[in-house]
Amino acid sequence: MRLCLLASGSSGNCAYLEAGGTRLLIDAGISLRQVRRRLEQIGVGAEMIAGLLISHEHSDHVGQASRVALHFDCPIYASERTAAEFRRRLSGWEKQERFRPGVQFAIGALQIEPFRVSHDACEPCGFLIQGPSEGTGRTVLVAIATDLGLVSPRLRRRLAPCEALIIEANHDVQMLLEGPYPQYLKQRIQSELGHLSNDSTGELIAGLAREGRLRQVLLAHLSQNNNRPEVALETVRRHLDGQGDCRLHLSYRDRPSELLVL
Ligand SMILES: [Zn+2]
Ligand SMILES: [Zn+2]
Repeated sequence: MRLCLLASGSSGNCAYLEAGGTRLLIDAGISLRQVRRRLEQIGVGAEMIAGLLISHEHSDHVGQASRVALHFDCPIYASERTAAEFRRRLSGWEKQERFRPGVQFAIGALQIEPFRVSHDACEPCGFLIQGPSEGTGRTVLVAIATDLGLVSPRLRRRLAPCEALIIEANHDVQMLLEGPYPQYLKQRIQSELGHLSNDSTGELIAGLAREGRLRQVLLAHLSQNNNRPEVALETVRRHLDGQGDCRLHLSYRDRPSELLVL
């Protein structure tokens, strides 16, 4: 399995996942040109994309979904309620598929289970994705959850069997509180329907790493105003405190992250 964040942050999100010959995009908040350029940068040519999964209707996740899906001639997969929210952004020519949170479905070699997360969208979802590993073909389970304001015990249990995780480390609490955002926005970001702080994410990752399964983490959706890459890394590392065997990677607005191979 190969995994990469082509772009991450409030200016646009797009993830790439490939296993057993099936290639997926998750969210499309950057231009088609950028998607194609960044796929080329990680060595994926104009090859077939089997589907575009949509996590929620915020424009940094669906802004370019129509153009991307039409270009790759692949279906857009979204929940019924999320699809209703971004219908006006579509031309009507796109192929569309529906999923239900909690109900597993297959795309090619991949098994996908969408799960609800806490965020201020109508039906925001993360995804558990299972597929064959590179080389040995054993089954690998990964999860992606980039916009969420709360790590519930249920979410923690869902993520526990994952080998790799794409999860947001959105803000440093101090930087957010001292930063330029108006009060209502600071409250929204910190609320259970907002975004995870570096500390919340660090706690989650440290807990999962101690249990021993988690090997790789891509830190996603870093705020440009309320975070810095080195602060996010340092905070999560402090929580890990040398326990477990888990590698941390950063993601960027303007270039692809490292390509993880599992
Ligand atoms: Zn977002
Ligand atoms: Zn969002």
